[in-house]
Amino acid sequence: MIDPTLEFETALQGLADAHLIRKRPVIEAVDGTHLRVDGNTVLAFCSNDYLGLSQHPALIEAARQGALTYGVGAGASPLVSGHSAAIDALEHELADFVRLPRALYFGSGYVANIGLVPALVGRGDAVFSDSLNHACLIDGARLSRADIHVYPHNDLTALTEALQRSTARRKLILTDAVFSMDGDVAPLAEMIALCERFDAWLMIDDAHGFGVLGPQGRGTAAHCGIDSPRLIYMATLGKAAGSAGAFVAGHPTVIEWLMQRARSYIFATASPAMVGEALRASVKVIEQEEWRREHLHRLIARLRAGTADLPWEHPASPTAIQPLIIGGNAEALAVMQAIRQRGIWAPAIRPPTVPEGTARLRISLSAAHSEADIDRLVAVLHEVA
Ligand SMILES: *Cc1c(COP(=O)(O)O)cnc(C)c1O
Repeated sequence: MIDPTLEFETALQGLADAHLIRKRPVIEAVDGTHLRVDGNTVLAFCSNDYLGLSQHPALIEAARQGALTYGVGAGASPLVSGHSAAIDALEHELADFVRLPRALYFGSGYVANIGLVPALVGRGDAVFSDSLNHACLIDGARLSRADIHVYPHNDLTALTEALQRSTARRKLILTDAVFSMDGDVAPLAEMIALCERFDAWLMIDDAHGFGVLGPQGRGTAAHCGIDSPRLIYMATLGKAAGSAGAFVAGHPTVIEWLMQRARSYIFATASPAMVGEALRASVKVIEQEEWRREHLHRLIARLRAGTADLPWEHPASPTAIQPLIIGGNAEALAVMQAIRQRGIWAPAIRPPTVPEGTARLRISLSAAHSEADIDRLVAVLHEVA
């Protein structure tokens, strides 16, 4: 009898041979940036909790109160059985925070993007997508069945030419606002000008800018000073906001359309109100605790000064994402393991998450780190190099 699992076993062996097998360490306890993993305590530089809010007492208390008031589940889709007053208030507060007229909350960023793009464009339309965009923008574009034009990373000349050539009915530019594996920022002001010129829309994914960039952490659109009815702003809330979920914000007509047509909104169970309450507390902390961003930016500068003489390229990044480009998959894994043996955890990121030959150590910093944490990381990197 043939073993039906054999073809998958062979495929897994292929991944192992290419050093592409991924593992999920089990986190047994969390204390700020120190984690107990597989019985050992490590200093972690692998979380996107950029402001250190996931354990903030105000968020925890808000979630607790939310659970006591509403229970821990929402029961059905918001369009079937409604959504909680907590999520409703959160949507208003998020819209105010990013200075856009209306917002719609989703259970996760991945789910948001695979629903939003197909609601915005379809057959006969065109999507213009940065070559380094996050997987969920790529998947959203594929699901939409629009024609997809991938332009080289942040290349405005190529983007302009592609827009000029396009005869599509509706045109949508898709970009990460802060690129998740490089930490650099998209030229949003120039992109929104292109939208005006070519009658196009701009959808930005601000997973890594919300809370970190812009005045009071209002995000990368505010950081770049853009404001246009053509802007569709999306950000996730599991990173700097410290909890879970995502939202899209923009012109009220566009948001109404998205609520009516985004399948991943319509056919998903509403999020628990306790998450909504935690996020409402989070937005207040993001707005008020400026010291978190100031501290984070000091840590970024300290790290960059400390890595200047390492043998690895450290591309310019003004954000909490600080990649050290190592190159080969096996080499990146070896560096990750060597620092791990010295009590520090930063993940090796390999293809297909990043382009072939650019495997890297993705260091992410948090306001929860101390200057001594950065110094320890720098010392260990020098030892390993
Ligand atoms: C993390 C991330 C997402 C996915 O968001 P989740 O809430 O984790 O599903 C989407 N886009 C970008 C750019 C991300 O980095």
